[in-house]
Amino acid sequence: MSFIAKIKDKLFKKVGDKMESAAIKADEPAAAPAEVAPGAAPVIVDSPVPQLVSPSAVFPVELKAILPGAPPGGKIKFAHYWGAGCGGCDVSMLDIHEKILTVNDMADVVFWPIAVDGKVKDLEALDDGEITVTLFNGAVRNSENEHMLKLLRQKSTLLVAYGACAMWGGMPGLANMHNTEEIKKYVYTQTPTMSAFQDAQDSPVMPQETYQAPEGELHIPTLYDTVLAADDVVDIDYYVPGCPPQQTSINVLLGALVGHVYHGAALPPKGAIIGASEKSLCEECPRKKESRRITKVVEPYEIDVDPDQCLMDQGIICMGPATRAGCGSPCTQAGQPCRGCYGPTGAVSEQGASMLTAVASLFPVLDNDALIDEDEIIDIMSQVKDPLGYFYQFTLAKSLIKRAVKEKGGK
Ligand code: SF4
Ligand code: SF4
Repeated sequence: MSFIAKIKDKLFKKVGDKMESAAIKADEPAAAPAEVAPGAAPVIVDSPVPQLVSPSAVFPVELKAILPGAPPGGKIKFAHYWGAGCGGCDVSMLDIHEKILTVNDMADVVFWPIAVDGKVKDLEALDDGEITVTLFNGAVRNSENEHMLKLLRQKSTLLVAYGACAMWGGMPGLANMHNTEEIKKYVYTQTPTMSAFQDAQDSPVMPQETYQAPEGELHIPTLYDTVLAADDVVDIDYYVPGCPPQQTSINVLLGALVGHVYHGAALPPKGAIIGASEKSLCEECPRKKESRRITKVVEPYEIDVDPDQCLMDQGIICMGPATRAGCGSPCTQAGQPCRGCYGPTGAVSEQGASMLTAVASLFPVLDNDALIDEDEIIDIMSQVKDPLGYFYQFTLAKSLIKRAVKEKGGK
């Protein structure tokens, strides 16, 4: 077995063990959405190539203080919605503290289910483009996510992919390592909480998309085989990275809106990544990097973490080298490794592969003059727990791998 094959086998074996019938085949085309949900396939549009907007270069006004009163032209209309997400992106709006009052001054919230009462029929009643700006967080993994994203696109002048799930599928995208049937089988029959319940039934009780209740017919959304990013489904105007976006990035987004609405400033170019930098997080992180060679991979709780030294130099796998800066490095400053939620840097498209290269540079190997042998390198690499979940935690659904597919014969 070649060295690369050995590494691949070690790195992805754990995933393969769990998948049972699925296998990673990056050289095969990703499953077409039409196969994902027959009869309910999302329309795939070309993804725009995101451009950088630096926090200070473009906007004449940044949101640094509460603004008094409504804009001269009257309040704009604002919406915020979640697809397949955790709710953290919705809550992140509160991280801007008292500046949330500016949002209230500037905008009428016409649809934001987590914050205000509102019904889908109210949204449907709006004119096309009537909402000035909508923040859509979460990925698209079922028919309701897809319907709401398309409806909000129709009703919004500006649509922002807000957060890692909307930009790249985020953590829900890791479900692409399985298909719908495998996920349902595990969740509804094999989890500790459900297995005892199922054991007591004559036959497994599984969710149905349609159910005839005494009050009428009930429907639940169709779960898709493949988790998609927002711009796989509709045209997106701007992107705000993060899991969730940090207040620095939110302030830049709101600053752009404030500059436009109150002062007539130009909006960022379409496709801009708002509140992020072209650089890698390592260039923003204050820890001292000495590019030490490591022989062991550790988690922060396993060592006394040096407060000043680069975490990678201490054997902790940190996604900083492969991750776009802009968050202010709160995780590394708190002694925890970067998990990569601001996505790939401007220089690379494949965050996981970029990170594998960075990890490889940690080994005691200099210009083909190996100080340790191949088996030792493989042993070090196999200490990375859940490598696919680590290197592709936020971006699998938008990566070259995109999803696991079955080989011929169902393996
Ligand atoms: S990006 Fe993070 S915080 Fe936002 S919905 Fe996804 S998992 Fe939650
Ligand atoms: S690898 Fe992590 S800890 Fe080290 S400099 Fe980069 S961001 Fe900071």
